[in-house]
Amino acid sequence: MNHRRNFLKSGLGGIAGLSAVPLLGGLAGCQSVPGAASSASSGRAAPLQTQKVTDRISVISGAPGNVVVLNTGDGVLLVDSGSAAQASAVQKSLAGARVRTLYNTHYHADQTGGNPLFAKSGAEIHAHTITKQWLAADYYVPADDRWVKAPPKEAVPTVTFRGRGEAKAGAESIEYGYLLEAHTRGDAYVYFRDSNVLAAGDVVSPQRDPVLDWYAGGWLGGRADAMDDLLGIGNDQTLIVPAYGPVMTRAQLQAERDLITKLYDTTSNLYHHGNSAQDMMDKGVLKDVGRVFQDPERFLYDVVKGLQAHYTNFGGNVV
Ligand SMILES: [Zn+2]
Repeated sequence: MNHRRNFLKSGLGGIAGLSAVPLLGGLAGCQSVPGAASSASSGRAAPLQTQKVTDRISVISGAPGNVVVLNTGDGVLLVDSGSAAQASAVQKSLAGARVRTLYNTHYHADQTGGNPLFAKSGAEIHAHTITKQWLAADYYVPADDRWVKAPPKEAVPTVTFRGRGEAKAGAESIEYGYLLEAHTRGDAYVYFRDSNVLAAGDVVSPQRDPVLDWYAGGWLGGRADAMDDLLGIGNDQTLIVPAYGPVMTRAQLQAERDLITKLYDTTSNLYHHGNSAQDMMDKGVLKDVGRVFQDPERFLYDVVKGLQAHYTNFGGNVV
C-alpha cells in the first residue's frame, strides 16, 4: 500500500513529463466506455432529472451520467457535459442559464460529448492536459477493435492543468486537481469548497462496475491511491458526485475506497504469483466483498491488463 503510493508519487514527475510527448499509441487509445459508445451512437434521448444538492449546486442525471451544475449568479459552471446525444437535453435542463465554464473530469465521450455545443455558445473548457490530448486525436478502443474519430475541435479544452489549482466562480471557491491513473491517465476532481461538494468523475463508481480504462492508463493501484486523495478533501459532511449514480456521503466513499484497496491487495498478490483473470475468477476474489459485479469477468480482465501495464510499480520480479 505505502509502497505503491510512494512509488507512484515519486514517479509522478516523470510520468507527467512523458505525457507531454505524443508517444507510441498512448494518445490514441481507449479501453472501454461502457454506456458511452452506445448512448452516443444510438441517439436515444432518455429523460434527464435535475436534483438540487445545495443552494448553488444541482446534478443533472441521465446524460447518460451526471452533470454537475454550479449556479454562479452570472450563468453556470458545469463539471462534465454529458454525451453528444444528450447535449441539447442538458442545455434545456439549464433553463436558459449561460454556461461560462466547463470542467471535464476525463476524456470519455459520455463526459465530453456536450463540449462542442457549450464551447460554441461561449463556455471555456478546463481539463487535465492529458484529457486535452485525448480529445485532440482519434483513438483506438481495443475491447471493440475500433477507432473513434476525434471530436470537433471545439470540444478540445482550452485551459489545461497538470497538478492542482484554485479558481473562483461567483462567490464559490473551487479547487481542482489531478487523480493519477485512476480511471484514465487524465482524471481530475473539482471541489466546491463553500458548498462542500466534490465532483469525482468516474474515479468513484457506486452504481456501475468500476471501469479501468487500462489502454488510457487507468489501473486498480492508481484508483486506490486516487480514492485516498479524494478522502483527503473536505470533511465528514462533504457530498461526493460520481460520474454515474447517486450523490454519495463520505462514509460511502470510504467504503468504496476500502473495497478497491482490498481488491488491489488481493489481485496484485495473485498476479504476482502467476494468476490470470480467469484464475482470480475461479478463486472467487469478487465473492463476499460486499458488492455484486455486473460483469465480473470483464472487471478482472481489465484489472489484470492494468496490473500488467504497471508491473514496474510493484518493485517485484514479475514475469
Ligand atoms: Zn469514464
